Amino acid sequence: MDAFDDLYAANAKFAQNFGGSELTGRAARGLAVVTCMDSRIDPLGLLGLKPGDAKILRNAGARVTDDVLRTLVLAVYVLGVERVLVMPHTDCGMAKVTDPDVHALTSARGVDTRSLEFHTVRDQSEALRHDLTRIRTSPFLPADMPVAGAIYDVRTGLLKPSDY
Ligand SMILES: [Zn+2]
Repeated sequence: MDAFDDLYAANAKFAQNFGGSELTGRAARGLAVVTCMDSRIDPLGLLGLKPGDAKILRNAGARVTDDVLRTLVLAVYVLGVERVLVMPHTDCGMAKVTDPDVHALTSARGVDTRSLEFHTVRDQSEALRHDLTRIRTSPFLPADMPVAGAIYDVRTGLLKPSDY
């Protein structure tokens, strides 16, 4: 059995009720959200959005990496984004390990990951402040673009806006 058969079967059903789409690739609500890959997060649902509304950028820890900055530049200048919300979350796995922890875990499986930076999070507030600053001070992004941070509580479903 193919490891992906369940997904292809589900998609065949999905497409049966898919009436086509008039949407373009531009973000209809002018929004980009940077959030974590955590499987408990439904970015569209928790923000009252629907497909077509926003660009969703996800990675481990909702970190503003070089690739996130690259993607935001494209989102702003090509795809209609005018505001950015950075949204880490409570109980994040990235805040429970350090880079040396991860290197030790992979090393135990015979894999050397020391050339990778995992951007693990020692202090979530500090990491969010750092990541917001990276966007706000990027020479490639509009200086007056609204940029906000908020932490999503995976237990209550509530967003807590940050002061940074
Ligand atoms: Zn996470």
